[in-house]
Amino acid sequence: MAVPRKKTTKSKRNMRRAHDALTGTQVQECQNCGEMKRPHHVCDSCGYYGDREVVEAADVL
Ligand SMILES: [Zn+2]
Repeated sequence: MAVPRKKTTKSKRNMRRAHDALTGTQVQECQNCGEMKRPHHVCDSCGYYGDREVVEAADVL
């Protein structure tokens, strides 16, 4: 098995990890009700996806 010749320095290791940070969940406004929703997901509050209702609106409130 190939073995690294040198131990990776803290500097090189940290430079490699500079782009590894997680980003937060993306949200956008629902076209139908204006609530914040995740892109490419059915809206939680009105049940719309795009311009049509695909599931019954959750009336939990
Ligand atoms: Zn909505």
